[in-house]
Amino acid sequence: MKAVVYRGHGEPPALTEVPAPACPEGGAVLAVRATGVCRSDWHAWRGHEPVPLPHIPGHELAGVVAEVGAGVTRWRPGDRVTVPFVCGCGTCAHCLAGDAQVCPDQTQPGFTGPGSFAERVAIHAADTNLVALPDSVDFVTAASLGCRFATAYRALTAHARLSPGDWLAVHGCGGLGLSAVLIGTALGARVIAVDLSPAALTRATELGATHVVDARTDPDPATTIHTLTGGGATVSIDALGSPTTAAGSIRSLRRRGRHVQAGLLLNGPTPLPMDVVVARELELYGTHGMAAAAYPPMLTLVADGTLRPDLLVGEVIPLAKAPTALTAMDHPPTTPGTTVIAIEEP
Ligand SMILES: [Zn+2]
Ligand SMILES: [Zn+2]
Repeated sequence: MKAVVYRGHGEPPALTEVPAPACPEGGAVLAVRATGVCRSDWHAWRGHEPVPLPHIPGHELAGVVAEVGAGVTRWRPGDRVTVPFVCGCGTCAHCLAGDAQVCPDQTQPGFTGPGSFAERVAIHAADTNLVALPDSVDFVTAASLGCRFATAYRALTAHARLSPGDWLAVHGCGGLGLSAVLIGTALGARVIAVDLSPAALTRATELGATHVVDARTDPDPATTIHTLTGGGATVSIDALGSPTTAAGSIRSLRRRGRHVQAGLLLNGPTPLPMDVVVARELELYGTHGMAAAAYPPMLTLVADGTLRPDLLVGEVIPLAKAPTALTAMDHPPTTPGTTVIAIEEP
Protein backbone atom coordinates (compact mmCIF):
# COMPACT_ATOMS: atom_id res chain seq x y z
CA MET A 1 0.00 0.00 0.00
CA LYS A 2 1.00 3.64 -0.30
CA ALA A 3 1.80 5.52 2.91
CA VAL A 4 3.62 8.64 4.02
CA VAL A 5 6.69 7.55 6.01
CA TYR A 6 9.47 9.39 7.81
CA ARG A 7 12.58 7.56 8.98
CA GLY A 8 13.79 9.98 11.64
CA HIS A 9 12.56 13.06 13.51
CA GLY A 10 12.66 16.02 11.17
CA GLU A 11 13.72 13.85 8.22
CA PRO A 12 11.67 14.46 5.07
CA PRO A 13 8.46 12.41 4.98
CA ALA A 14 7.88 10.64 1.65
CA LEU A 15 5.12 8.77 -0.11
CA THR A 16 6.38 5.18 0.03
CA GLU A 17 5.22 1.66 -0.84
CA VAL A 18 5.00 -0.35 2.41
CA PRO A 19 3.34 -3.63 3.46
CA ALA A 20 -0.33 -3.25 4.42
CA PRO A 21 -0.98 -3.76 8.16
CA ALA A 22 -2.02 -7.16 9.47
CA CYS A 23 -5.43 -7.27 11.13
CA PRO A 24 -5.10 -7.45 14.93
CA GLU A 25 -7.16 -9.97 16.89
CA GLY A 26 -10.26 -8.09 18.03
CA GLY A 27 -9.31 -5.21 15.74
CA ALA A 28 -9.95 -4.06 12.21
CA VAL A 29 -8.11 -2.79 9.18
CA LEU A 30 -9.71 0.28 7.65
CA ALA A 31 -9.38 1.52 4.09
CA VAL A 32 -8.66 5.18 4.81
CA ARG A 33 -10.80 7.59 2.78
CA ALA A 34 -9.91 10.85 4.53
CA THR A 35 -7.46 11.93 7.22
CA GLY A 36 -6.80 15.33 8.76
CA VAL A 37 -3.40 17.02 8.93
CA CYS A 38 -2.95 18.14 12.54
CA ARG A 39 -0.29 20.08 14.41
CA SER A 40 0.09 17.03 16.69
CA ASP A 41 1.40 15.11 13.66
CA TRP A 42 3.92 17.89 13.11
CA HIS A 43 4.97 17.81 16.80
CA ALA A 44 5.60 14.06 16.55
CA TRP A 45 7.55 14.47 13.29
CA ARG A 46 9.69 17.19 14.87
CA GLY A 47 10.40 14.87 17.83
CA HIS A 48 8.46 16.85 20.45
CA GLU A 49 6.79 13.62 21.47
CA PRO A 50 8.12 10.08 21.07
CA VAL A 51 6.88 7.90 18.21
CA PRO A 52 8.29 4.60 16.91
CA LEU A 53 10.57 5.05 13.87
CA PRO A 54 10.19 4.76 10.95
CA HIS A 55 6.71 6.21 11.32
CA ILE A 56 3.44 6.80 9.45
CA PRO A 57 1.62 9.86 10.87
CA GLY A 58 -2.14 10.50 10.94
CA HIS A 59 -4.78 10.18 13.66
CA GLU A 60 -7.88 12.02 12.36
CA LEU A 61 -9.39 9.48 10.04
CA ALA A 62 -12.50 8.13 8.44
CA GLY A 63 -12.88 5.21 6.10
CA VAL A 64 -14.39 1.84 5.36
CA VAL A 65 -13.86 -1.40 7.26
CA ALA A 66 -11.73 -3.62 5.01
CA GLU A 67 -11.11 -6.53 7.37
CA VAL A 68 -12.10 -7.52 10.91
CA GLY A 69 -10.13 -9.72 13.29
CA ALA A 70 -11.26 -12.72 15.30
CA GLY A 71 -13.78 -11.86 18.02
CA VAL A 72 -15.16 -8.66 16.45
CA THR A 73 -18.97 -8.73 16.67
CA ARG A 74 -20.20 -5.20 15.83
CA TRP A 75 -18.50 -4.54 12.47
CA ARG A 76 -18.06 -6.06 9.06
CA PRO A 77 -16.29 -5.12 5.83
CA GLY A 78 -17.95 -2.21 4.06
CA ASP A 79 -19.07 -0.34 7.19
CA ARG A 80 -18.37 3.42 7.04
CA VAL A 81 -16.61 4.47 10.23
CA THR A 82 -14.46 6.97 12.07
CA VAL A 83 -12.24 6.51 15.14
CA PRO A 84 -11.34 8.69 18.14
CA PHE A 85 -7.65 9.65 18.36
CA VAL A 86 -7.45 7.79 21.68
CA CYS A 87 -8.40 4.13 21.26
CA GLY A 88 -9.12 2.13 24.41
CA CYS A 89 -8.02 -1.43 25.15
CA GLY A 90 -11.67 -2.47 25.39
CA THR A 91 -11.27 -4.60 28.50
CA CYS A 92 -10.23 -2.37 31.44
CA ALA A 93 -12.70 -0.82 33.90
CA HIS A 94 -12.44 2.61 32.22
CA CYS A 95 -13.22 1.20 28.77
CA LEU A 96 -16.10 -0.88 30.12
CA ALA A 97 -17.50 2.29 31.75
CA GLY A 98 -17.41 4.09 28.37
CA ASP A 99 -14.31 6.15 29.20
CA ALA A 100 -11.84 4.75 26.67
CA GLN A 101 -10.37 8.28 26.33
CA VAL A 102 -8.51 7.71 29.62
CA CYS A 103 -7.68 4.02 29.13
CA PRO A 104 -4.28 3.28 30.73
CA ASP A 105 -3.54 0.83 27.89
CA GLN A 106 -4.69 3.14 25.11
CA THR A 107 -3.36 3.07 21.56
CA GLN A 108 -3.22 6.11 19.31
CA PRO A 109 -2.87 5.49 15.58
CA GLY A 110 -0.22 7.88 14.29
CA PHE A 111 1.51 8.05 17.71
CA THR A 112 1.81 4.66 19.43
CA GLY A 113 1.75 2.89 16.05
CA PRO A 114 1.36 3.49 12.32
CA GLY A 115 -1.25 6.13 11.46
CA SER A 116 -3.64 7.02 8.69
CA PHE A 117 -1.50 8.89 6.13
CA ALA A 118 -1.85 5.57 4.35
CA GLU A 119 -4.26 3.53 2.27
CA ARG A 120 -4.82 1.16 5.21
CA VAL A 121 -4.62 1.53 8.99
CA ALA A 122 -5.05 -1.05 11.76
CA ILE A 123 -7.28 -0.22 14.73
CA HIS A 124 -7.23 -2.26 17.95
CA ALA A 125 -10.36 -3.27 19.90
CA ALA A 126 -12.73 -2.48 17.05
CA ASP A 127 -15.90 -3.11 19.05
CA THR A 128 -14.78 -0.41 21.52
CA ASN A 129 -13.22 2.11 19.14
CA LEU A 130 -15.06 2.23 15.82
CA VAL A 131 -17.88 4.73 15.34
CA ALA A 132 -20.54 4.28 12.64
CA LEU A 133 -20.90 7.26 10.29
CA PRO A 134 -24.39 8.42 9.37
CA ASP A 135 -24.91 8.16 5.58
CA SER A 136 -25.15 11.94 5.27
CA VAL A 137 -21.73 12.58 6.87
CA ASP A 138 -19.02 12.38 4.20
CA PHE A 139 -15.51 11.13 4.90
CA VAL A 140 -13.79 14.53 4.72
CA THR A 141 -16.24 15.99 7.25
CA ALA A 142 -15.84 12.94 9.48
CA ALA A 143 -12.03 13.22 9.37
CA SER A 144 -12.31 16.91 10.27
CA LEU A 145 -13.93 15.92 13.59
CA GLY A 146 -10.42 14.77 14.28
CA CYS A 147 -8.97 15.44 17.63
CA ARG A 148 -10.00 19.11 17.71
CA PHE A 149 -13.74 19.14 17.09
CA ALA A 150 -14.54 16.06 19.19
CA THR A 151 -12.35 17.36 22.03
CA ALA A 152 -14.11 20.74 21.96
CA TYR A 153 -17.54 19.07 21.84
CA ARG A 154 -16.83 16.90 24.86
CA ALA A 155 -15.23 19.81 26.74
CA LEU A 156 -18.32 21.98 26.31
CA THR A 157 -20.99 19.32 26.81
CA ALA A 158 -19.81 16.54 29.14
CA HIS A 159 -17.53 18.72 31.26
CA ALA A 160 -18.79 22.31 31.06
CA ARG A 161 -22.51 21.48 30.66
CA LEU A 162 -22.91 24.49 28.38
CA SER A 163 -26.52 25.72 28.15
CA PRO A 164 -28.29 28.16 25.80
CA GLY A 165 -27.71 31.72 26.95
CA ASP A 166 -24.50 30.94 28.82
CA TRP A 167 -21.49 33.17 28.27
CA LEU A 168 -18.63 31.10 26.81
CA ALA A 169 -15.08 32.49 26.68
CA VAL A 170 -12.69 30.77 24.27
CA HIS A 171 -9.01 31.50 24.91
CA GLY A 172 -6.97 30.70 21.80
CA CYS A 173 -8.60 30.42 18.38
CA GLY A 174 -6.60 27.80 16.51
CA GLY A 175 -8.39 24.70 15.24
CA LEU A 176 -9.50 23.62 18.72
CA GLY A 177 -10.66 27.10 19.75
CA LEU A 178 -12.53 27.76 16.51
CA SER A 179 -14.25 24.40 16.96
CA ALA A 180 -15.32 25.57 20.44
CA VAL A 181 -16.62 28.85 18.99
CA LEU A 182 -18.64 26.99 16.37
CA ILE A 183 -20.02 24.40 18.81
CA GLY A 184 -20.76 26.97 21.53
CA THR A 185 -22.67 29.11 19.05
CA ALA A 186 -24.63 26.10 17.77
CA LEU A 187 -25.56 25.17 21.35
CA GLY A 188 -26.97 28.67 21.93
CA ALA A 189 -24.19 30.20 24.01
CA ARG A 190 -22.95 33.78 23.68
CA VAL A 191 -19.31 33.39 22.67
CA ILE A 192 -16.34 35.67 23.38
CA ALA A 193 -13.17 34.77 21.44
CA VAL A 194 -9.69 35.74 22.65
CA ASP A 195 -6.59 35.54 20.47
CA LEU A 196 -3.45 37.39 19.41
CA SER A 197 -4.19 37.06 15.70
CA PRO A 198 -6.62 39.45 13.97
CA ALA A 199 -7.22 36.80 11.28
CA ALA A 200 -8.20 34.22 13.93
CA LEU A 201 -10.57 36.72 15.56
CA THR A 202 -12.17 37.54 12.20
CA ARG A 203 -12.70 33.83 11.60
CA ALA A 204 -14.16 33.45 15.12
CA THR A 205 -16.66 36.22 14.33
CA GLU A 206 -17.61 34.50 11.07
CA LEU A 207 -18.24 31.29 13.02
CA GLY A 208 -20.53 33.01 15.51
CA ALA A 209 -18.52 34.77 18.23
CA THR A 210 -20.49 37.82 19.38
CA HIS A 211 -17.45 39.53 20.93
CA VAL A 212 -13.69 39.31 20.34
CA VAL A 213 -10.81 40.33 22.58
CA ASP A 214 -7.48 41.10 20.90
CA ALA A 215 -4.87 39.96 23.41
CA ARG A 216 -2.13 41.85 21.54
CA THR A 217 -3.63 45.18 22.53
CA ASP A 218 -5.63 44.19 25.62
CA PRO A 219 -3.26 43.46 28.53
CA ASP A 220 -6.05 41.93 30.65
CA PRO A 221 -8.62 39.93 28.63
CA ALA A 222 -10.13 38.43 31.81
CA THR A 223 -11.19 41.85 33.11
CA THR A 224 -12.58 42.78 29.69
CA ILE A 225 -14.63 39.56 29.72
CA HIS A 226 -16.00 40.44 33.19
CA THR A 227 -17.08 43.82 31.81
CA LEU A 228 -18.63 42.38 28.63
CA THR A 229 -20.59 39.73 30.52
CA GLY A 230 -21.54 41.68 33.62
CA GLY A 231 -19.76 39.37 36.03
CA GLY A 232 -17.72 36.85 34.06
CA ALA A 233 -18.14 33.91 31.71
CA THR A 234 -20.22 30.91 32.75
CA VAL A 235 -17.84 28.59 30.92
CA SER A 236 -14.30 29.23 29.75
CA ILE A 237 -11.97 27.01 27.77
CA ASP A 238 -8.21 27.27 27.34
CA ALA A 239 -7.91 25.99 23.79
CA LEU A 240 -4.28 27.01 23.39
CA GLY A 241 -2.52 25.50 26.38
CA SER A 242 -0.18 28.10 27.88
CA PRO A 243 0.29 29.38 31.44
CA THR A 244 -1.14 32.76 30.34
CA THR A 245 -4.28 31.41 28.68
CA ALA A 246 -4.90 28.80 31.40
CA ALA A 247 -4.77 31.42 34.16
CA GLY A 248 -6.64 33.96 32.03
CA SER A 249 -9.40 31.45 31.37
CA ILE A 250 -9.87 30.82 35.09
CA ARG A 251 -9.80 34.54 35.92
CA SER A 252 -12.43 35.29 33.27
CA LEU A 253 -15.08 33.12 35.01
CA ARG A 254 -18.07 34.28 37.02
CA ARG A 255 -18.84 32.76 40.41
CA ARG A 256 -19.58 28.99 40.15
CA GLY A 257 -18.17 29.08 36.60
CA ARG A 258 -16.48 26.16 34.85
CA HIS A 259 -13.01 26.08 33.25
CA VAL A 260 -11.98 23.34 30.84
CA GLN A 261 -8.29 22.82 30.08
CA ALA A 262 -8.28 21.46 26.54
CA GLY A 263 -5.00 22.84 25.21
CA LEU A 264 -2.08 20.61 26.19
CA LEU A 265 0.27 22.15 28.74
CA LEU A 266 3.36 20.42 27.41
CA ASN A 267 5.88 22.25 29.58
CA GLY A 268 4.85 20.55 32.80
CA PRO A 269 3.35 21.96 36.01
CA THR A 270 1.50 25.23 35.45
CA PRO A 271 0.75 27.84 38.12
CA LEU A 272 -3.00 28.58 38.35
CA PRO A 273 -4.90 31.17 40.44
CA MET A 274 -6.31 28.65 42.93
CA ASP A 275 -7.27 31.52 45.29
CA VAL A 276 -9.80 32.58 42.65
CA VAL A 277 -10.96 28.97 42.24
CA VAL A 278 -11.72 28.81 45.97
CA ALA A 279 -13.27 32.25 46.39
CA ARG A 280 -15.59 31.91 43.36
CA GLU A 281 -16.23 28.17 43.81
CA LEU A 282 -15.05 27.39 40.30
CA GLU A 283 -14.98 23.97 38.68
CA LEU A 284 -11.83 22.92 36.77
CA TYR A 285 -11.77 20.08 34.25
CA GLY A 286 -9.10 18.45 32.15
CA THR A 287 -10.25 16.91 28.91
CA HIS A 288 -8.54 14.32 26.70
CA GLY A 289 -10.46 13.59 23.53
CA MET A 290 -13.73 11.69 23.44
CA ALA A 291 -14.47 7.98 23.55
CA ALA A 292 -16.20 6.28 20.63
CA ALA A 293 -19.14 5.54 22.94
CA ALA A 294 -19.82 9.30 23.23
CA TYR A 295 -19.79 10.06 19.48
CA PRO A 296 -23.39 9.23 18.44
CA PRO A 297 -25.09 12.35 19.92
CA MET A 298 -22.46 14.60 18.29
CA LEU A 299 -22.81 12.81 14.95
CA THR A 300 -26.59 13.23 15.11
CA LEU A 301 -26.07 17.01 15.39
CA VAL A 302 -23.58 16.88 12.49
CA ALA A 303 -25.98 14.82 10.35
CA ASP A 304 -28.91 17.20 10.93
CA GLY A 305 -26.77 20.28 10.20
CA THR A 306 -26.82 21.74 13.73
CA LEU A 307 -23.05 21.33 13.89
CA ARG A 308 -21.05 22.24 10.78
CA PRO A 309 -17.47 20.92 11.17
CA ASP A 310 -17.17 21.18 7.38
CA LEU A 311 -16.92 24.97 7.84
CA LEU A 312 -13.53 24.40 9.48
CA VAL A 313 -12.11 22.45 6.53
CA GLY A 314 -9.64 24.34 4.37
CA GLU A 315 -7.76 22.54 1.64
CA VAL A 316 -8.56 18.98 0.58
CA ILE A 317 -5.43 17.37 -0.87
CA PRO A 318 -4.34 13.96 -2.23
CA LEU A 319 -2.02 11.66 -0.23
CA ALA A 320 0.87 12.60 -2.54
CA LYS A 321 0.76 16.16 -1.16
CA ALA A 322 0.68 15.08 2.50
CA PRO A 323 4.49 15.24 3.00
CA THR A 324 4.52 18.88 1.90
CA ALA A 325 1.48 19.69 4.05
CA LEU A 326 3.20 18.22 7.12
CA THR A 327 6.54 19.97 6.65
CA ALA A 328 4.79 23.26 5.81
CA MET A 329 3.71 23.38 9.46
CA ASP A 330 7.24 24.61 10.21
CA HIS A 331 5.76 27.98 9.21
CA PRO A 332 2.49 29.76 10.09
CA PRO A 333 -0.42 28.60 7.89
CA THR A 334 -0.95 30.46 4.62
CA THR A 335 -4.51 29.19 4.14
CA PRO A 336 -7.30 29.08 6.75
CA GLY A 337 -8.86 25.90 8.06
CA THR A 338 -7.89 22.29 8.55
CA THR A 339 -6.17 20.51 5.68
CA VAL A 340 -7.73 17.11 4.98
CA ILE A 341 -6.16 14.38 2.85
CA ALA A 342 -8.72 12.55 0.71
CA ILE A 343 -7.80 9.08 -0.56
CA GLU A 344 -9.69 7.76 -3.56
CA GLU A 345 -11.10 4.25 -3.56
CA PRO A 346 -8.45 2.17 -5.38
ZN1 LIG B 1 -9.00 0.22 28.49
ZN1 LIG C 1 -5.21 16.02 15.77
